[in-house]
Amino acid sequence: MTLVACIGGGQLGRMLGLAGLPLGLRFRFLDPSPDAPAREVGSLVVGAFDDPAALARLADGADVVTYEFENVPVDAARPLAPLPPARALELGQDRLVEKELFRRLGIPTARFGSLDETGVPALVKSRRLGYDGKGQRRLDAPGDVGDDELAEEIVSFSRELSIVAVRGRDGETGFWPLAENVHRDGILRLSRAPAERAPQVDAERLATRLLDELGYVGVLALELFEAGDRLLANEYAPRVHNTGHWTIDGAVTSQFENHLRAIVGLPLGSTEALAPSVMINLIGGTPSPERLLRLPGAHLHLYGKEPRAGRKLGHVTLVGASDDTVAEAVDLVEAAGDG
Ligand code: AMP
Repeated sequence: MTLVACIGGGQLGRMLGLAGLPLGLRFRFLDPSPDAPAREVGSLVVGAFDDPAALARLADGADVVTYEFENVPVDAARPLAPLPPARALELGQDRLVEKELFRRLGIPTARFGSLDETGVPALVKSRRLGYDGKGQRRLDAPGDVGDDELAEEIVSFSRELSIVAVRGRDGETGFWPLAENVHRDGILRLSRAPAERAPQVDAERLATRLLDELGYVGVLALELFEAGDRLLANEYAPRVHNTGHWTIDGAVTSQFENHLRAIVGLPLGSTEALAPSVMINLIGGTPSPERLLRLPGAHLHLYGKEPRAGRKLGHVTLVGASDDTVAEAVDLVEAAGDG
C-alpha cells in the first residue's frame, strides 16, 4: 500500500482521498482542526502546520508528502521533500516574487510594483497570506503602499479564466480545458468548462513555462484575466484548485486523480472533457439534495463542514445541462446560501 501524507485536511484533501482510495492509496492528513473534512477518508494528525512533532508524525512511513493549501510554512515543509516541490510554494507565497517570476518567464501580467509603475486607480494587495480577495484595497488617488504590499494596475478584463495543469515525475504534462470563472466578493461562485472561444493554446504555453521552471510534479492552477486578445496571469496555486472541481464529474480524469497519479509516479490520465460542465460553489448554506439532484446532470459534493457565513460547504456540478437547468441550480444554490 502506498501512503500519501497531505499537509492540510480541508475539502481539497478530502477530494484527493476520495480519488485516491480506488487507486489503492492510503492517506494521512495534518490539520489543526479535529473536524477537518478529510478525516473521513484517511487518518488525521491534529496539529499546527509548523509543529515539528506533528509534521514528523504526518511523514512517518509515508511514500510521498503533498499539500492542499499554499500557505504551508515553507521551512516546515521543505525537509519533507514534498511534491509539488517546496520552491513552488515558496515563490507563490509572496505576490511580488510570484509576479517577478511571471515577468522573468515572459508570462504577461497587469503592471505591478509601486504606484509609479501602475498609476491610479490601483489595487493594493498584501504580499503575503492574501486569498479570495482578502487583503486587497483600491486606491483612487496616490497614497501609501507599504513594503509588505504590492500595487497592481486595475485590469478591465472581459472574463476570468483558469488553466489547470498537471505534470508527471517524468515531465509529461496535461491540461484540462480552460474554465471561465465568476467571482463575487472575491469568492469563486461558478466555473464553466470548457470555456467558450477559449485561448487554450496560449494558456497552455504560459502554464508550461511555469511547470518547467518549477520542475513541477502534480497539479497546478494558473488564474488568468482575458482582456481583448491578451491573457494576463494573476496568480498560480501549486495545488488542486476550486476551478478544477468540475473535472470530477466532467472530465475523463479528475484533477484529484491526476495529482495523485503524478506524485506517486503513475501514468497520467486523459484531461479531456466529457461534456460542457458548470460547477457552482455552495457557500454559507446548502440547498436540499432532493431538489438539486432532480436536475438532469447534477452531481452533489458536500465537504462535511459546519455551515458558517462565507464558508465553502460543497459544490454541485452540472454535466451536459441546458442553460435553464443551470439557471435553476444557481437559484437553488443562491436561495440557500448567504450571498
Ligand atoms: P486575488 O486577491 O489576486 O486572488 O484577486 C481576487 C479577485 O480580485 C480576482 O479574481 C479578480 O476578480 C480581482 N482582481 C485581482 N487583481 C486584479 C487586477 N489587477 N485588476 C482587476 N481585478 C483584479
